[in-house]
Amino acid sequence: MKTIIIGGGVIGLACAYFLQKEGHEVSVIDKGDISSGCSYGNAGMITPSHFIPLAAPGMIAKGIRWMFDPESPFYIKPRFDRALLSWAWKFYKASSQKQMQRAMPVLRDLNVLSKKLYQDWESEMDFPFGLTQKGLLMLCREQHSLEEENHTAKLANQIGVKAETLSVEALRKMEPGISEDIIGGVYFPDDAYLSPSLLLAGLKKNLQQDGVDFHPNTEVLDFEKSNGQINALVTDKGRFAASEIIIAAGSWSPFLTKKLGLSLPLQAGKGYSLTLDQAPALLQHAAILTEAKVAVTPLGDQMRFGGTMEIAGINHRINQARVRGILQSVSKYYKNYQIPMPVEEKIWHGLRPCSPDGLPYIGRVDSFSNLTIASGHAMMGLSLAPVTGLLVAELIARKKLSLNIDLLNPQRYR
Ligand SMILES: Cc1cc2nc3c(=O)[nH]c(=O)nc-3n(C[C@H](O)[C@H](O)[C@H](O)COP(=O)(O)OP(=O)(O)OC[C@H]3O[C@@H](n4cnc5c(N)ncnc54)[C@H](O)[C@@H]3O)c2cc1C
Repeated sequence: MKTIIIGGGVIGLACAYFLQKEGHEVSVIDKGDISSGCSYGNAGMITPSHFIPLAAPGMIAKGIRWMFDPESPFYIKPRFDRALLSWAWKFYKASSQKQMQRAMPVLRDLNVLSKKLYQDWESEMDFPFGLTQKGLLMLCREQHSLEEENHTAKLANQIGVKAETLSVEALRKMEPGISEDIIGGVYFPDDAYLSPSLLLAGLKKNLQQDGVDFHPNTEVLDFEKSNGQINALVTDKGRFAASEIIIAAGSWSPFLTKKLGLSLPLQAGKGYSLTLDQAPALLQHAAILTEAKVAVTPLGDQMRFGGTMEIAGINHRINQARVRGILQSVSKYYKNYQIPMPVEEKIWHGLRPCSPDGLPYIGRVDSFSNLTIASGHAMMGLSLAPVTGLLVAELIARKKLSLNIDLLNPQRYR
């Protein structure tokens, strides 16, 4: 079976891995190369701790407060755009206690199985990708966020995700460099992290060796379709026929589904990261600086700091104020950790594909018998890539699925 995956980000490559293992003849088409999407410079975290979806009670009020601070971690660019307004309305409706309760076990199960698959990859792959299983620290400077994190820790334990509330003393033993301002935190021992660039490069090389065909710098423009089937892709480099097609095009997925008459509510959520070769100190643990919503990842002898969520359409402008917001926050959480503003070329940015309810879109669609969608992973695409690839391969092979994915139906907003 000839299967074409549109998108060579982490989701596309994970799909290629499991499909190739199933015996498919696989091609990956990307309008850039594997380093041009959102998957390359992210924080690399594998996150059983992230079982609460982005759309959750309290998020709207928080978002509105953040909107007025140019250095804040969240921003929606106000504009009259029907797709954005419709997405915002769906986000608002999804931010309910009931929807959160429905989503939590799904996100937990996806993350837990995905982490297990990463562990399998670590023993199976012939290249290191820096998988480090030391957990995640949530560092708090303010009482209200410590209370929120403690509440999340209780919820976590209730649904079987390990979480421990830590005193400042206990935190200091684990991370001696934390600042005097830290008042406490929560530790998720089952979280992990890896180096996204090592993972993507190694995976691509192995897939190529195993016969997966890569077509970089090739943009899918349209589809040839008849009788409820897609027969071929029309690209700027010619026509590609296929028997199965997977759309794993991250933030660009809605432009492709639109060509097929399918609506996929999704907004690009821009974030930035900076990777320091010579950091003031190499920290011991990955962490989230909770008030600043900054992710901190030690990657070998480098340190990576990432954050912000700018819902501002597909655009690649670097917002210096928000990058400054990320970097300045770091010194509030770690002693002697001043990071000067870098030149713009050093700042990486990526567009997270955000669904309104914080759940990915994974599944088949009714209108085309040979189309599968794998997108909308927002802040968890790296973490959920292996499980997504596994589920996509199972869907296409019509096998029993490893997890129930009813809530991930790509047509749930029909
Ligand atoms: C600052 C930051 C930190 C993050 N940290 C984490 C983290 O710690 N853990 C985690 O799990 N996630 C994290 N994420 C989120 C994660 O990076 C994304 O969820 C993930 O990369 C999405 O992968 P993807 O393959 O769906 O999309 P992408 O990586 O964007 O890949 C989509 C690909 O599709 C291609 N494409 C699009 N349209 C077409 C077309 N028409 N024709 C051909 N090709 C096309 C693009 O060129 C692109 O290469 C972070 C994101 C950011 C911004």
